[in-house]
Amino acid sequence: MSKSLRVAIVGAGPAGIYAGNILHNQYPDVSIDLFDSLPAPYGLIRYGVAPDHPRIKGIVNSLHEMLGEGTIRFFGNVTFGRDLNLEDIREHYHAVIFATGAIKDAELDIPGVDLDGSFGAADFVSWFDGHPDVPRTWPLNAEQVAVLGNGNVALDVARMLAKHADDLLSTDIPENVYQGLKASPVTDVHVFGRRGPAQIKFTPIELRELGEINDVDIVVYEEDFPDGWFDEDAEGVTNQQKVMARVINSWREQPLTGASRRLHLHFWHKPAEIIGDAGKVAGMKFERTQLAEGGSVVGTGTMVNYPLQAVYRAIGYFGSALPEVPFDDKYGVIRNVAGRVVDETGTDVAGFYATGWIKRGPVGLIGHTKSDALETVTNLVADVELLEDPAKPGQDQILETLAERGVEFTTWAGWLKLNQHEMDLGTAFTGVERERVKVVDREEQVSISNRD
Ligand code: NAP
Repeated sequence: MSKSLRVAIVGAGPAGIYAGNILHNQYPDVSIDLFDSLPAPYGLIRYGVAPDHPRIKGIVNSLHEMLGEGTIRFFGNVTFGRDLNLEDIREHYHAVIFATGAIKDAELDIPGVDLDGSFGAADFVSWFDGHPDVPRTWPLNAEQVAVLGNGNVALDVARMLAKHADDLLSTDIPENVYQGLKASPVTDVHVFGRRGPAQIKFTPIELRELGEINDVDIVVYEEDFPDGWFDEDAEGVTNQQKVMARVINSWREQPLTGASRRLHLHFWHKPAEIIGDAGKVAGMKFERTQLAEGGSVVGTGTMVNYPLQAVYRAIGYFGSALPEVPFDDKYGVIRNVAGRVVDETGTDVAGFYATGWIKRGPVGLIGHTKSDALETVTNLVADVELLEDPAKPGQDQILETLAERGVEFTTWAGWLKLNQHEMDLGTAFTGVERERVKVVDREEQVSISNRD
């Protein structure tokens, strides 16, 4: 007979939900509790994917099915390290899987980075996705804006800044986001890559989409395309790269239409300094670069300045440490070997596992999280006989612990209420067809989730 397992998962984004689902399939004699500090589930899909990407947001449907099966209990509004600590985990569970993702911006160490008007992309994404913990208003008062980075987050930020608010009204953006974007005076969004157009980290669909934004012209600069900048026949060139090179080349040939907003793509620009005036962003200085060995770049010594009133840094995310959990400060991940958490000496911490971006760093698409969860869960299942029995394995005992602390947690039944409420707001909206309007405020989310 197999041993009945109790497993906690911290983080109800795709990484945590996939891990729970795979664990249940691999080891049916398990009861799983999934915790999240936010009252609603789905992590990055709800609070990281841009609202105008319904195809990716659609992944929620399969996550919803997984949680709806009833094999994983969801507890929202529970913060690990405050409402629930490691001692509680050890007391109630055989094992824990951390799936807390990476939600901070990677640091950019250049002068002026702390000026008023210099923003981290992660914060802006949280704002336009209606994350309850960021302020409701965003200072959208710049006409010329820089977005640093050549990854998909930079494209999300640039697109959201460049799009007209009315073209976003059919999405799930909250009212405060619509009003903020509507008042934005932006005319020019400049995206800067420190390497060349052949070294971009975008993906084809996301890149092509830029050219389809209503009333926005794409501007590229001939000096950024040295002769032979892209060689389709070179070894290792992927189909994705070929498609993107063709998309960019089509923009080089395309005349501007006189749109009211422009989205500029600049390459070979290494950030050097954000220039301030009276404490506010007034411009930015870059060093031009050129290709060196192995796809890296070197500075040419030529400096260029742009007048700008806001800078968004989309140069990658970074994971946050969890109280008492071994953390690698250099890479922003929980220390682990193939998902088994290890301490500084490399020794396994029994019963601790990690998956998703907090395990491997903030790279890869949501689908990659599945194979990642499979590795972690397979290792957990292989360790079952080594896992110590908890003192309080009863399913109600953790509820008692949370109740004793006065934690106002939400549940799956609560999410169904909040979900319905948001969809009703969408139906009630007049003028444009909307599937949902997000509720932003944490207290309001908890109160709707927990009402009778
Ligand atoms: P990313 O793909 O790693 O891109 C980061 C970008 O920042 C790169 O262009 C990088 O340049 C640049 N960068 C890093 N440090 C820099 C510095 N000091 N100065 C200037 N530039 C710097 O990361 P991401 O955009 O945060 O995306 C994370 C993951 O989520 C990716 O896998 C992405 O595809 C995925 N994602 C997907 C979507 C979607 O719609 N499908 C949306 C958002 C995110 P180098 O290449 O030179 O290092």
